[in-house]
Amino acid sequence: MYDIKNTRLFLLDMDGTFYLGETLLPGALEFLALCRETGRQFAFLTNNSSRSKADYVARLRGFGAQVTERDVFTSGDATLLYLAEHGFPKEILLIGTPSLEEQFRGAGYTVRAERPGTVVLGFDTTITYEKLTLLCDAVRTGLPYIATHPDLNCPVAGGFLPDIGAVIAFVKASTGREPDAVIGKPNAYIARAAAQKYGAALEDVCMVGDRLYTDIALGACGCGTALVLCGETTPADLAACGLVPGVVCADLAELGTLLRNS
Ligand SMILES: [Mg+2]
Repeated sequence: MYDIKNTRLFLLDMDGTFYLGETLLPGALEFLALCRETGRQFAFLTNNSSRSKADYVARLRGFGAQVTERDVFTSGDATLLYLAEHGFPKEILLIGTPSLEEQFRGAGYTVRAERPGTVVLGFDTTITYEKLTLLCDAVRTGLPYIATHPDLNCPVAGGFLPDIGAVIAFVKASTGREPDAVIGKPNAYIARAAAQKYGAALEDVCMVGDRLYTDIALGACGCGTALVLCGETTPADLAACGLVPGVVCADLAELGTLLRNS
């Protein structure tokens, strides 16, 4: 049985876990306070590479969370680490939002290189037919092709935005290729990179989230998982999926209670 009290670092999903649209979810701020009070670390881990860390910090602060950019880790951050670790060239074709482009340029990348050595796809809410054509052309040439994360849809008030997974499917239909690597949750890479950044061992990390195929599937890498049922997953989804979270709880309020009583 998974014992949550051994957790040293909680990786917190945001949408559906900490807040839902414009609503702070029950126990969210209290959970951060509890982590601080008990000497545990927390970090916000998101697959959404369409926004910058500054955007997330502003949003979290708007909800009253006292956080800084150090407390946020995105699939864009993990992708930059991956590219550097694997020695990929700095001349790339990046398909992403202006904020992702800025992040990559800040790390020394040419994001629209004339002769790119790698194709990097982010969640691009500014995508155009021209960008899709550029992307497919570059993928078709056989360049290494990396996607920041796999999500099919991004939850927003009243429904969904088609996320990067829908673009990955588009590229597959046109070129026959899937990405060579998909970095975000549930890829173990992002958990290891986050654990390393915050100085925790993977087995002392717990991923807390509301989505089965990203947040909870991350547990395959050896970290703990806690499913909150205040986001997109229903108990019926959980029963049908075959994944077994370390902890299942209504929300961060209940997770806090479990942690206090553990
Ligand atoms: Mg979520």
